[in-house]
Amino acid sequence: MIGLLGGTFDPVHYGHLRSALDVFELLMLDELRLIPLNQAVHRAQPQAPAAARLAMVQAAVADQPGLIVDDREIERDGPSRTYDTLVSLRAELGLRVPLCLLIGADAFSGFLDWHRPLDILDLTHLVVMQRPEAALPRDINLRTQLQERRTDQLADLRAAPGGRIWVQSVTQLAISATAIRHQIATGRSARFLLPDAVLEMIHAQQLYRTEHLSE
Ligand code: ATP
Repeated sequence: MIGLLGGTFDPVHYGHLRSALDVFELLMLDELRLIPLNQAVHRAQPQAPAAARLAMVQAAVADQPGLIVDDREIERDGPSRTYDTLVSLRAELGLRVPLCLLIGADAFSGFLDWHRPLDILDLTHLVVMQRPEAALPRDINLRTQLQERRTDQLADLRAAPGGRIWVQSVTQLAISATAIRHQIATGRSARFLLPDAVLEMIHAQQLYRTEHLSE
């Protein structure tokens, strides 16, 4: 079973990495792929160049077995749609291996507005990462999907390539890439929020020295 965590990773930080490791271990995944996006579809574009974001994620997981980096969205150019990425992964991995797409509870609440959400659920399970005791989504259609597809049995995930929803509590770290970029732009230290190797790359390439106008 393979996990997938997409994101801007602008820059990657311990909030991403700890959640990824939690899910990797708790779901006993064979591997978890971090997939930096090229162009965002529903949010502001990343500030750092794609090559730099990719290199930072590679440095962050270099010594962590099981966590690997998948560069297909950056190689593909253009907007990064999850559906296209899953089709590309299925072409590589075949139709049978179970896939688990990790998404935050916030992103899940808007999941039915994504490009081809039900086709996404044909291609992968969803692992919704949330805070302990968090409320269910309000949207009635999404609640129905959750009720019909939700499981707490790992065997159900392993038995199908996709289609189920798993809700997973992960370590809560109130770290955001936006806050990290702001700290760097205002001359504060971002140390202990992200791996030192990533921070060194940020300094060496002089990333995030100024705040993005879109923020
Ligand atoms: P930004 O502040 O630029 O929006 P971000 O870190 O929230 O950055 P992404 O890099 O796109 O955004 O995040 C990738 C994925 O990691 C998303 O699914 C997001 O919900 C999740 N994520 C981000 N921060 C955390 C955190 N502190 N704990 C758990 N998951 C996180």
